[in-house]
Amino acid sequence: MYGTMMNYPMTLDQILEHSYKIHGDKRVYTQLPDGEIHCYRFADLYNRVYSLVSSLREVGIQKGDRVATYAVNAYQHLELFYAIPLVGGIIHPLNIRFSPSQLVQIINHAEDKMIFVDNDLMDEYSKIENETSQIPTVWIDKCSESQQPENNNERLNYENFMNNSCETSKVLHNENWGLALCYTSGTSGDPRGVIYTHRSMFLHTLAANQADVFGITEKDVVMPIVPMFHALGWGIPYASMFAGADLVLIGKNVDNIIDLISKTGVTIAAGVPTVWTRILPELINKKEEISSLKRIIVGGEAIAPVHIETFEKELGIEIRHAWGMTEMSPTGTFCNLSRSHQSLPEKKQWTIKSMQGRPIPGVQIRIVDENDIELSWDGVSMGEVQVRSHWTSETYYKNGSHNKDLTSDGWLRTGDMATINPEGYLNIVDRKKAIIRSGGESISSLALEKTIISHPSIIDVAVIGIADETWGERPVAILVLNEPVDEISLTMYEYLINVFPKFWVPDKFFVVEEIPKNSVGKTDKNALRQIVTNCL
Ligand code: ADP
Repeated sequence: MYGTMMNYPMTLDQILEHSYKIHGDKRVYTQLPDGEIHCYRFADLYNRVYSLVSSLREVGIQKGDRVATYAVNAYQHLELFYAIPLVGGIIHPLNIRFSPSQLVQIINHAEDKMIFVDNDLMDEYSKIENETSQIPTVWIDKCSESQQPENNNERLNYENFMNNSCETSKVLHNENWGLALCYTSGTSGDPRGVIYTHRSMFLHTLAANQADVFGITEKDVVMPIVPMFHALGWGIPYASMFAGADLVLIGKNVDNIIDLISKTGVTIAAGVPTVWTRILPELINKKEEISSLKRIIVGGEAIAPVHIETFEKELGIEIRHAWGMTEMSPTGTFCNLSRSHQSLPEKKQWTIKSMQGRPIPGVQIRIVDENDIELSWDGVSMGEVQVRSHWTSETYYKNGSHNKDLTSDGWLRTGDMATINPEGYLNIVDRKKAIIRSGGESISSLALEKTIISHPSIIDVAVIGIADETWGERPVAILVLNEPVDEISLTMYEYLINVFPKFWVPDKFFVVEEIPKNSVGKTDKNALRQIVTNCL
């Protein structure tokens, strides 16, 4: 017997309707290129979204059409996050840090029907303009209310594209229709596309907004530093608006974070660890200016206990560590101390907080050995992480139904190696490909990095494995120092030998000015390998 409940589709228009009807006075702030802050209400956004909906319909965007955006975090980008899926189209936010050839390849692969390009990115986009000239393009100008966008007859301007007749006639979508096409950042291979559905994004939003997950409430002011192209800004734009929190979009100038926090009263921010650790000394210096900031959600890469400690002790800012991947919309696990951890010594608490945390409700997780045999949650057994959830992709865009990363019983192989402790806390050891195999034993680059970064002379570090005739592979560490240190190799050796078995200690320590980062701000280990090869 079926239940008696309404089977109402879970579609994006409900997020927009709710935020308009219940939180219409809440604000979206955008930092403009001239440093001014654009601000309007959810109610204004709502009206503009439906103007866009009618314009998109008028130019013939239809169900299933991919429409690309090449834009920074800004209110127009947010409008497109709603308008494109509301006409049945699939928003495809392009990674603005991809190389020109990668971009062209992905635009062709996606078969984008139309593209919205941010004027702030005109220089970058001009490198591929010839190759995408057949795709209708709309240029997004960002001006203060007092300014008018420049009129360039050759280019269709966003404000002119937007139809003044605001069409509110709704299409009732099938919840399983595509909503967005996102490509992985390609850290360990070529970028691959996944298509989120209305249903998966709706459910991800509900799960993310739980108190023990993002914990966003209508009292919050939320600033995703994570770019909107990276797994839809980790779903934060939708989650914030559904919760009724003000949203702060940073525009192109990411160097102005402190000022923006202080002017808009940000309470929750989110981004990869590097964004925060890079500006940590400045944050400490300007502590009073960021006193509203209570919580930072970090993910995409592991954060070291020493950084969590500094944020909490020096700034009173709580760090919540998240783990996930583009394929998972992206949130899989989230780290909070549980009730039983409250009485633990501080040091133990930092260590727990630097774990990737427990699966969020709705996500199932397991670790398996090389034969897909499930391993126990004893905090020691290490295996590949597999996941299953309503917001995990079963396959890849244009990959047909076959996905070699899916097990026969429907779990996604994540390519991450981890342990899980008896309380269900996931601790990522490494990406499978990054694990260093030395003399038949495994060495975790992540564990080494977490310890090395806690040395007072080190401000950034990466550990990679390099081929070795005797051992197969050996670890080498690449360091960024905050002051010159005599005999850094000896210093580091002495520091690490107390913590790790001798064979874990890197053979070589290289000092560089900066660790190369990839298009979403994660350590670019391929570029590092090149640097090390050149140095050897
Ligand atoms: P790409 O795989 O191209 O980098 P994603 O942005 O989807 O694209 O990255 C997902 C991967 O990022 C995960 O499989 C994992 O290796 C890594 N990752 C994400 N969050 C964390 C975290 N909190 N700690 C460690 N690694 C993480």
